[in-house]
Amino acid sequence: MKKPTAIASILLLVSLSLQEIAYAVSLSEPNQDFEGFSGSRTLKQEQEHAHEVHCSRERSRAAWKIIDDYLMPFVEREDYRISSKCRLHPNKDLFRDQELHKIHVDINEWRCGYCKKSFRAEKFLDQHFDNRHYNLLNVSHSKCLADLCGALHCDVVMNTKSTKTKCNPAATARNRHLCESLADSCFPANKGPSASRLHDLFLRQFCDAHTCSGKQKPFSKGGKKETSVFYLAIAILTLMLLPIFYLIVYLHQSEMRKNTQELRRISKVGQKAKPS
Ligand SMILES: [Zn+2]
Repeated sequence: MKKPTAIASILLLVSLSLQEIAYAVSLSEPNQDFEGFSGSRTLKQEQEHAHEVHCSRERSRAAWKIIDDYLMPFVEREDYRISSKCRLHPNKDLFRDQELHKIHVDINEWRCGYCKKSFRAEKFLDQHFDNRHYNLLNVSHSKCLADLCGALHCDVVMNTKSTKTKCNPAATARNRHLCESLADSCFPANKGPSASRLHDLFLRQFCDAHTCSGKQKPFSKGGKKETSVFYLAIAILTLMLLPIFYLIVYLHQSEMRKNTQELRRISKVGQKAKPS
């Protein structure tokens, strides 16, 4: 391989890997930078369709992500079926169908699954759903998942909770009550050992942290998010560095070979020159 080709392939590899890392990061931390923007939009949107939607898409998405990351791995492990009466059931999420119709084609391309229109950021696709497909929201039968945000600690995930604000005992008690009622309705003790194990887990994972002492942190039992992102990052880094390492070794060796050949040539010339 010639040097310019080798350098070009290194550059290509690095740019590809960087793109992949950016994609992984955008997957793990959705919509944190345009929180302010979406907030104002939701308000405007709510004014436009005041009688239709009173539920924040962003907070519903955060709540769903928490359920998916910190509860579902345990529910799947127990092979437990959440009842449709439980407020954590996918049917209780107003935006679930729209969220499932988001196609993330590329880091800068989001496509609408209903009409195939493309957008360069998720927030524009959200706007499109609000403007063009709001008739698909089944408002009459669905519930707002964002209403469970207090119990599920959405603020922790969305980084919207200010550390300076004092703990409000009344609000904390309300959230704890909501949290415990979720545990009771979704994992009733009379549904068998799996349900009672999950009931206990739900209390530890979500409800214990609703205190003003600040000693308990939410999601103490862990989830799938941190491990998968961590291993993904390691895998990408390894994939990125290995070819570069081999290329450097290859280039170094070919350089060495060239040098020894030159040395040999010089010494041969020297030997030939001596006798005369
Ligand atoms: Zn569309």
